[in-house]
Amino acid sequence: MAYHGLLDKYGTLLDLPAHTRPVSLLEGNTPLIPAEALSRQMGGGFELFVKFEGLNPTGSFKDRGMTAAVSEALGRGAKTVICASTGNTAASAAAYASRAGLKSIVLIPQGKVAAGKLAGAIAYGAQVIQIDGSFDDALTMVVQISDKHPICLVNSINPYRIEGQKTGAFEICDMLGAAPDWLCLPVGNAGNITAYWAGFKQYDSLKATGLPQVLGVQAAGSAPLVLGHPVENPETVATAIRIGKPARGEQALEAAEESKGRIIAVSDDEILSMQKMLARLEGIWVEPASAAGLAGLAHEIAAGNFSAGGKRIVAICTGHGLKDPDIIIKDMAKPQIVSPNLAALEEVIFG
Ligand SMILES: *Cc1c(COP(=O)(O)O)cnc(C)c1O
Repeated sequence: MAYHGLLDKYGTLLDLPAHTRPVSLLEGNTPLIPAEALSRQMGGGFELFVKFEGLNPTGSFKDRGMTAAVSEALGRGAKTVICASTGNTAASAAAYASRAGLKSIVLIPQGKVAAGKLAGAIAYGAQVIQIDGSFDDALTMVVQISDKHPICLVNSINPYRIEGQKTGAFEICDMLGAAPDWLCLPVGNAGNITAYWAGFKQYDSLKATGLPQVLGVQAAGSAPLVLGHPVENPETVATAIRIGKPARGEQALEAAEESKGRIIAVSDDEILSMQKMLARLEGIWVEPASAAGLAGLAHEIAAGNFSAGGKRIVAICTGHGLKDPDIIIKDMAKPQIVSPNLAALEEVIFG
């Protein structure tokens, strides 16, 4: 049977109003890739899978929530959607709004959005507005303007975003036949960890698939949930999780506690070295934030805080490496230049 996207596949399990009119780019259905070499590198003895969410239509998991949020907005008669974004929500909102024939407005923190994300939002036709402030400032502004004007907010405080994002958990259970022992993922505004936990609980109540323990991972320079207070000026190379006041922070802490998991922080160096390791050992290139879940897993194993032996672990890799090429190019040795003849090429390859 042809694949028609997430609302067709899982719509009956999602709490969406009757007026919802499906808008889909055939999102979801992303692969769960076995990562044996990476598991060995971390000490081995456990099964590791990468759910590569960068393979969604606009290159991040945001499309799971956006198909639901924009479908609801369209059915309700909305004409315009708006969001604050570190980049991926902007690109996703813009793409789904275009497909639905709606206008999109995206607010981004000035100078802090990766090139591939900004380019996407522009290509899909959003009105892009840079705020001389942080993501948290931008989120406050879109909440205020959507309260006052008939503009539909599609950040993850929109409940339909969470409904759509539950499908990530459903797919994992469908592919593995049960929930994994552990789920590792990055935490920014904390919508995704909230959605995964809700999804696993719902599937377990329907199909007895069990529940994972959840390891949520923040970047050390923007780790409000680890510190226990908001971070005024969050900083990290992982721009997608550069968030100081997570909108669903309470729910993220609940997910960690209920699942007998935890939320930890890792350094930017750990994130970047995991990004490279994943690309070099497994051929999976993700943007920095997307490597945070795996960096957290490696951190916990190395620190002796985690007994991985015999476990089945799934890491959510949230966005594609192509979103943020600059982070690689910045540190790259310039590729060698050779004359266009065989001898010169042999010299370079064989010395
Ligand atoms: C949005 C995003 C995150 C963070 O997800 P939250 O739901 O905000 O916690 C992590 N990685 C990438 C690539 C993202 O786009």
